[in-house]
This record gives sequence, C-alpha cells and structure tokens, in this order.
Amino acid sequence: MDRMLFYSTNDAERSSCVSIREALLLGLAPDRGLYLPERFPTVLREELTGYSEMSYAEIAFRILSRYTAGVLDDDVLFELCKDAYSFEVPLEPVQGSGKAHILRLDQGPTASFKDFAARMMARLISHFIRESGKELTILTATSGDTGAAVASAFSGVLGIKVVVLFPIHEVSRRQRLQMTTLGGNVTCLAIDGKFDDCQAMVKRAFADSELRNRLNISSANSINIGRLLPQSVYYFYAASRISKTLKEPLLFSIPSGNFGDMMGAMIAWKMGLPIKKILVPVNGNDAFPTYLATGNYRKIEPSRNCVSNAMNVGHPSNLARLVQLYGGHMDETGHIRKLLDLNALRRDIFSISVSDKETRQTIIDVWNNKKILLEPHGAVAWKGYESWINNHPEDATLPAAILETAHPAKFHEEMERLLGFEPELPPSLALLDHSSENYTQMQVNYDTFKEFLLTRASK
Ligand SMILES: *Cc1c(COP(=O)(O)O)cnc(C)c1O
Repeated sequence: MDRMLFYSTNDAERSSCVSIREALLLGLAPDRGLYLPERFPTVLREELTGYSEMSYAEIAFRILSRYTAGVLDDDVLFELCKDAYSFEVPLEPVQGSGKAHILRLDQGPTASFKDFAARMMARLISHFIRESGKELTILTATSGDTGAAVASAFSGVLGIKVVVLFPIHEVSRRQRLQMTTLGGNVTCLAIDGKFDDCQAMVKRAFADSELRNRLNISSANSINIGRLLPQSVYYFYAASRISKTLKEPLLFSIPSGNFGDMMGAMIAWKMGLPIKKILVPVNGNDAFPTYLATGNYRKIEPSRNCVSNAMNVGHPSNLARLVQLYGGHMDETGHIRKLLDLNALRRDIFSISVSDKETRQTIIDVWNNKKILLEPHGAVAWKGYESWINNHPEDATLPAAILETAHPAKFHEEMERLLGFEPELPPSLALLDHSSENYTQMQVNYDTFKEFLLTRASK
C-alpha cells in the first residue's frame, strides 16, 4: 500500500510532505504550519457496519492502519492499539431523548478524553524514537487535562523527556497532582500566567532554531497530528454502537477549546462516517461562534477563565486546520490569509457559547431530571445539543452522541456545591492524594524557559 503523506497548512505547493513518522516526531512543521493528511482514506459502508461487532482496539486498528501503512507493521500497530485501549468506553442512553447518548470518554488513567490520543501517540512516538536511537523532549502546554494525559502516557518511557507547562492559578488541585506526582522523566513548570502564555512559550520554542539545533523537541499538544487521528476513532466506535445500520446520519456535540476533539469528528466524517452536523459548543471563549455568525475572526485575548477550564482557549490552534479543509488559509498568528467557504462551514458546523451560569444550571437540571451526572465540560456539550434540537426539532430522533470529556470527580468541589454530594472517585484519582509533588514555578519569560530547557537537557 502507498504511504500516506502529510502536508503543512503553510505549504500551499505541498512541496515538503512527510510520512506519519516525521509528522509525529516534528509536531509542528518547520514552516510553523500544522500537518494534515494529503487525502482522507475512505471507509466503505459495509466495513463501517461491521464495526458494531468489533472491540474499540480493533476499530482503532482499522482506522489508524490507513495512515501508518508502509511505515509501521500492521502487527505492531495492532499490539499498540490493544495496549493503549484497555479501558471501558461507556455509552449511556438519554431517557426520553430519542437516540441520544452520553459518550463517556473519562475511563482512562487520567480520567479525561485526552487519554485516548495521548496513549496512542505516546506508543507511536516511542516506537519511532527507538528505531531512530535518538532522545526526544516533548514540550506540552496544558490548560489542565492534556498535561496529565501526556505525562501519564509517556511516564517512564526510555529516550523521552516530558516538560509540561501549566497555568498555576487555572488548574484544579487534582489536575495539578496528576502531573506533579509522576516525577522521573516528567518535569512540570507551574507558570504564573494563563494557558495562552504557556502555549505561546511552547510555540516560540518550536520556532527557535538555536534551541531546535541543540534539542530534539516535539509537541504533544493537539497541534500534533498524532493527537487528532486517534481522536477520530471514538466517533466510529460510538456510531457503531448507537446505530448499527448507519441508515441515518449522526449528530455529535463536542465541548471545544483547542478544537482537536472536533477535528477528530471532521476526520471521521471525511473518511465516510455519515454525520448530519457537528455541534461545537464552547464556553465564554467565543471567538469561533462569533466568527461563524459575523465572518470576522478575532482571538479572545487574554482568554477568559471559565468553569469548564480545559476549554479556556482564546485562539483555538486547530482552526488553521479547519480553515484549510474549507479552502482557506490561516497563518500561525491567527490571521486568515485566504478566505474559506464560510457557507460550507456553516452548513456542516453549529457553534454556540455557553456561559458558566448555563453550565452550572445544566449540571443541576440534568441530574434532577434525568439522573445523569455531568461535569462542566459535558454540561457545555449537553447545552450545545439541546440548543440545536430546540431550533431543529426534526433532528431530535437522529442518533446522537453528547461527549462527556472528563470524569465528574475531577471537579469535585464544583459538583459538591451544585449537587450537594461528591462524585465517587475512580481509583486512578484516589491514589493521588497520597503522592508527593514536584514542580518548578516560573514567570512568563521565554529566556528563563529556554535556559531551563537547555540546562535540563544537558543533564
Ligand atoms: C481538552 C479538553 C476539552 C477541549 O478539547 P479540545 O480538543 O481542546 O477542543 C474538553 N473537555 C475536556 C475535559 C478537556 O480536557
């Protein structure tokens, strides 16, 4: 089979395409663009309907092998998939709401959906880096959950160092503990700033040729295509469980920040999964819904602090990919250099901003009326679905998945305030309270950060 090639969103000529190995190891393309596959392999309807009989790991193998063919042996990939996806992926029916389900992506070791991507990407990167015999430093900015998932997935992996930057005042205690208690090859920097400051420092490091010459760095943020491809798998999986015949197209409601999760749905759609519309609710960081409504894109600077804190993103980095898929070009600073087909985008995607007040009220109402436990991110997803159905009652009978992206116990203080009880802790979180923490505090200062990386790397 032909090797799949990946191009950078800044490479209009598509003159420097790479394989999945280079795309994963580089993270960001040298021209600062984001990698996308040159074409989307299609999965035929007969194969899709067969997924209802397959395990999650088997479906993951079917999807991912189309991108790794010629680079990674199928046997090896299948083992990696089985190893990465050893946990449950529950789908909980919503009583009285047709074929709507809650897709719970919170059963992995760090209790957020980011485990799905991080675990697969870590296995792929560690396989490729062992082949190369080099050392790699993974830089990751996190608003809370990415850092935990990535650090957990790479913890103890030989040849790889992980450096996580998180905004010290914007992550919950449990989110912090998930990163700072690992130790070993995982270094944590608590930045006295916002998520966007962390992300900006990481992006600057990637653009710093002096640093890149001295240090082999890659990214585990959703700018890495290795995050997005595994995130397409649960859409196939959910569809196969909700609608065995796939006669009707699905709705997915995806609570979004950096838009990596929704890009997973986009990829699944391009590969042939029948989708009616992708619903992309966001929190108070409403740059995208405002863009859809007005055609003017303006980043939210600084990003707004909301209760769904993993979505506090003022400028979603995956928009550059979305814009590309709709025929436009957005550069790395967030400027749209070439217009996209906005009407096509509006036809495919619906987006609204959900306030903290609505988020909290949704958690209370959904618990009282349906006995379904949602945390703030899942509540934003619920609200997105509800809002679409209120305006399009004809879609109320369509098969649908509302994504719950984190475990309610990660936000136990908020849940206790709203519902009067604390959600039960999954075992992975229960252990944290008894482990010791290790992290370095740092101001928002690129030179300090660079110096830190270079000294640490030479150890
Ligand atoms: C990261 C995260 C999101 C947002 O996902 P993006 O891919 O950044 O849009 C939503 N919910 C939770 C719990 C997250 O950790």
